[in-house]
Amino acid sequence: EKRDAAHERMQEERAERNAESQILKLTEFVTVSELATMMNVGVNEVIGTCMGVGIMVSINQRLDAETINLVAEEFGFKTEYVSAEVQEAITEEEDDENDLVPRAPIVTVMGHVDHGKTSLLDYIRKTNVIAGEAGGITQHIGAYNVKLEDGRQITFLDTPGHEAFTAMRARGAQVTDIAIIIISADDSVMPTTKEAIAHAQAANVPMVFAINKIDKPGANPDKIREDLANMNLLVEEWGGKYQCQEISAKQGLGVKDLLEKVLLEAEMLNLKANPNRKATGSVIESSLDKGRGYVSTVLVSNGTLKIGDNLIAGTSWGRIKAMFNERNQRIEKACPAEPVIILGLNGAPTAGDSFHVMDTEQEARDVANKRLQLQREQGLRTQKTFTLDDISHRIALGEFHELNIIVKGDTDGSIEALADSFIKLSTEKVQVNVISKAVGQISENDVMLASASDAIIVGFQVRPSSDARKLADREGVEINTYSIIYDAIDDITSAMEGMLDKVKKEIITGQVEVKQVFKISKVGTVAGGLVIEGKVHNKDKGRVVRDGIVIHTAPIGALKRYKDDVKEVPAGMECGISLVHFNDILEGDIIETFTEVEVEQKL
Ligand code: GDP
Repeated sequence: EKRDAAHERMQEERAERNAESQILKLTEFVTVSELATMMNVGVNEVIGTCMGVGIMVSINQRLDAETINLVAEEFGFKTEYVSAEVQEAITEEEDDENDLVPRAPIVTVMGHVDHGKTSLLDYIRKTNVIAGEAGGITQHIGAYNVKLEDGRQITFLDTPGHEAFTAMRARGAQVTDIAIIIISADDSVMPTTKEAIAHAQAANVPMVFAINKIDKPGANPDKIREDLANMNLLVEEWGGKYQCQEISAKQGLGVKDLLEKVLLEAEMLNLKANPNRKATGSVIESSLDKGRGYVSTVLVSNGTLKIGDNLIAGTSWGRIKAMFNERNQRIEKACPAEPVIILGLNGAPTAGDSFHVMDTEQEARDVANKRLQLQREQGLRTQKTFTLDDISHRIALGEFHELNIIVKGDTDGSIEALADSFIKLSTEKVQVNVISKAVGQISENDVMLASASDAIIVGFQVRPSSDARKLADREGVEINTYSIIYDAIDDITSAMEGMLDKVKKEIITGQVEVKQVFKISKVGTVAGGLVIEGKVHNKDKGRVVRDGIVIHTAPIGALKRYKDDVKEVPAGMECGISLVHFNDILEGDIIETFTEVEVEQKL
């Protein structure tokens, strides 16, 4: 009876779980493929369903709530939007038109490598900072504000490239107001330039073109204008609508005019914000600092950020303990369009995360916890497990290995770069999975996760805590720490090669022509022959070849010169040779001898 009751309870539980699993907990804008994974159906089925109701979608397209509901229902799922609940906690105040005041434009410089982006930003940073101000901008914080002589300001966002620009945009942070597209006058519009332009256009961000290196003898700015015209981007001098300025970032020529044009563009955008409200904005970068803990650079887009504010950004939260500007000066508040370094968060939010200020610390923590939970749930559901199809395809390929890696690093940028590089190393034979990546010290949690998922831990500019180190020793978890990205990549590549089964390779050592065959009782057949090529070793294996056909392969039983066992017999000499458990040797056979060595496979 007891057993029946237990059985019944188990069935009830299972039914409950089933009902539970029929509810998709998700955020709006999951992709088609994520949705398919969550429902455990094929991507094509989802695409097909969408097409059925007249919506054409691609695999990576994000769907709105309405479409998701429709598709989910088709497959028998109910939906629950967890983000709605999380978003509700943060109410966006609408600003009254009368409270708005002009703010500085936020500008990003993008372009092909070596076309002078860094030089331009450096020049602007060094020369246009508030005149007479002590120190100048000494530290790189991902963004800085420059004040021109007449008091007007521009905030420069120093993102590592247009991928970062778009990655931030994908997270909902339209941080940039204007893009400067820099092109070297001694080169042409390069693929990266085209990409940068496409990214700016997709974001609806106005562009100002900077034709750089005009001081160089080979400079041909007209060629750049022509390249642009061929892309349907007509610059002003040529009657188009795009502002364009010839500059030398190195000598500072034309830079002032360039900034003038940027400000003109900004004026047309009529950028405004309300400084008298709680601050909102975006995270530019985060890192873990030895002495100061988690350090984040944020850019205020509206409101004023103050010391003591309770901030939430992504899944990190905290009370702001201190703020610094790009000149490493302590500041009390940051106004709209001002970048600022903040101390006091409990973690490192991701670049592009938006931040909000909450009334109380408790509120900030609650929202963070909700987000964390949501992230975990979605992570679990969208983690792709292998289907049988995948597995059989892989088996058909012969061999398949996986290398699981946990990446920890000092900055958001470094872990993203490392994780991306690792994933790109994947080949048909070895797949690299980054199962977790985060900013911070290597913790016991990381070690547990590594141990549970057979992963190795890669630390970039971070070290394990002493407890984590002890646990790693106990659990046999490998922790590798690096300061140079390329070293890490090299090591992972060799680890991948080490995972491949070693292959045996034969090396032919010699050939023996059989002249005579002796049958010796208890010993078996011994061939008397001449080594016609190479050198035969007694540890080799032998292959009997008759009329060009391999009859048998076996290790050499005995190798003799006259009556003595010998280690080797060189070409031109006669020998006696027998093979283990093989007696069918005939006069005229060739015994080819060989050894086997193990060689590592290349990826
Ligand atoms: P980035 O890769 O776009 O950041 O380009 P950099 O600013 O690092 O510049 C690449 C190279 O071009 C460096 O050697 C610079 O010194 C050089 N360079 C940049 N601007 C100018 C310029 O206006 N004139 C000359 N002659 N060289 C420049």
